[in-house]
Amino acid sequence: MTDQLDALMAMKERLATVNRTIADATKNSGRNSGDVQLLAVSKTQTAKMVKQAFDLGQTAFGENYLQEAREKQDALSNLPIEWHFIGPIQSNKTREIAEHFDWIHSVDRLKIAQHLSNKRPEGKPPLNICLQVNVDNEAMKSGVLLHELPELIEQVAQLPSLKLRGLMAIPAPQTEYAKQLEAFHKLTEAAASYPQMDTLSMGMSSDIEAAIAAGSTIVRVGTGIFGKRNVK
Ligand SMILES: *Cc1c(COP(=O)(O)O)cnc(C)c1O
Repeated sequence: MTDQLDALMAMKERLATVNRTIADATKNSGRNSGDVQLLAVSKTQTAKMVKQAFDLGQTAFGENYLQEAREKQDALSNLPIEWHFIGPIQSNKTREIAEHFDWIHSVDRLKIAQHLSNKRPEGKPPLNICLQVNVDNEAMKSGVLLHELPELIEQVAQLPSLKLRGLMAIPAPQTEYAKQLEAFHKLTEAAASYPQMDTLSMGMSSDIEAAIAAGSTIVRVGTGIFGKRNVK
């Protein structure tokens, strides 16, 4: 029991620290409080951990692996959690993803977007979509390249059961603030000509400040909230 209480107190502190970091960075960037949302990345964490974070006031959770996410969703179906899918998407999984998530951050090709739109159940609101962009042109990385982005935006914006909300990126890891900022600015600039999009999903535990300075509206934080990840 004491162990459980310790774990809960530790999570409470970590969550408060992350929320403080977000609030400070938002203020320091001259932005309005509430402009930046926290997405708690719960991959490899148990349903119980998600419940704990929920009880501490966190309502949006991001998952990378469909099967794992489905188990947690079933276990926590009584809670009004907003579920975000942030992992690679295989086309044979699009039906389940379209049924069980509110947001998808990792769409990077038209075919996947079409499947998600076709399979979004009638009666549910349009699925919120971010297009994942490979801002650093990395060879093995998921994401649409910047020069391919305008065409994909135009095509995805027309799909009836999707709502194109914005862009997402996971830049190559950089320790230097200026380099982090430079990568995030590429995403901000790419989004600038599309006022109908309101979301920039960028920034993780190690680069929250730069992401917020560059205009992030959703930061995705895992270890900063839950502590070290269980191996997957
Ligand atoms: C795991 C993951 C995160 C969170 O990473 P942390 O380093 O744990 O904060 C954010 N975004 C994506 C896409 C991830 O896969």
